Amino acid sequence: MSDRSLDEFAVASTEGDQADVADDEASTPAADAAPSVPTMRWSANGAACDDCDAVVSRRWRDGDSFVCADCKEW
Ligand SMILES: [Zn+2]
Repeated sequence: MSDRSLDEFAVASTEGDQADVADDEASTPAADAAPSVPTMRWSANGAACDDCDAVVSRRWRDGDSFVCADCKEW
């Protein structure tokens, strides 16, 4: 159920770059994510990192923020 809702969210927010998102989902299981909160957020036009303000297409959930790959603590 949670996988299904996550897929729908990803597709709705990516428009035109679904192959890339599918790749990420394959390597980033959403098992730890809350059902309605994706681990990764894709913005086709870019969005500012909540930590360093860099504009990136792909941001990762970090607590209550979404940050770029450089700021994300892996
Ligand atoms: Zn950053």
